[in-house]
Amino acid sequence: MTDTDIDPARLEAARKLFVGDVDFVLGVRAMDQIPVASMPEIAFAGRSNVGKSSLLNALTGRKQIARTSNTPGRTREVNFFDVGGKLMLADLPGYGYARAPKTEVLGWTQLIENYLRGRAGLRRVCLLIDSRHGIKETDRSAMGLMDQAAQNYQVVLTKCDKVKPGPLAKLKETISAELAKHGAAHPVILATSSNDGTGIPELRAELASFCD
Ligand code: GDP
Repeated sequence: MTDTDIDPARLEAARKLFVGDVDFVLGVRAMDQIPVASMPEIAFAGRSNVGKSSLLNALTGRKQIARTSNTPGRTREVNFFDVGGKLMLADLPGYGYARAPKTEVLGWTQLIENYLRGRAGLRRVCLLIDSRHGIKETDRSAMGLMDQAAQNYQVVLTKCDKVKPGPLAKLKETISAELAKHGAAHPVILATSSNDGTGIPELRAELASFCD
């Protein structure tokens, strides 16, 4: 998809929404601390280092909205951001860190299960996949959780500036074939780069469409 496929007015409205007011609401470690869903919500999930913080910063046109992944103690929290009083973004803790102890993996799974169970306003989970690596086993586990919860999710490729157009098209094909087997997966894959801005307007427009 390119910019030209979407009405420019829609792209501009989405840009304004995301680069406008964005406020950190809170970070929670347990779902009983979670704020009541008062707006449509979009969550962002992915392996550690997939480029989630960079994508949230690119979406909102900021240097640092996302609390950095390497801030000690913040990595296991769900961080909520209010976008213009219209949309809530939930930054889920990264998973799949190679040396994570088993207890941590269990903790992540439980947090996400509880989160998916309790979020009536959750419209979509953006499942971030590194363009250089494709879908890994830990991503499949996350997909399994969302399939079980019948939670709509969409693959968003990150760092697509690192992959040439040919291999990127091939990767999309491979992922599409895999997604077709998952009931809760959105069929459209968005390729993004936080470095050069590819796909950011399209992702904004997609997410802004959830504003009531
Ligand atoms: P997180 O752990 O998922 O929050 O990942 P970060 O946003 O901290 O990014 C992890 C690493 O990938 C950092 O070194 C970033 O500079 C790099 N990175 C993130 N997004 C991009 C991108 O779009 N293109 C390239 N080339 N590198 C990226």
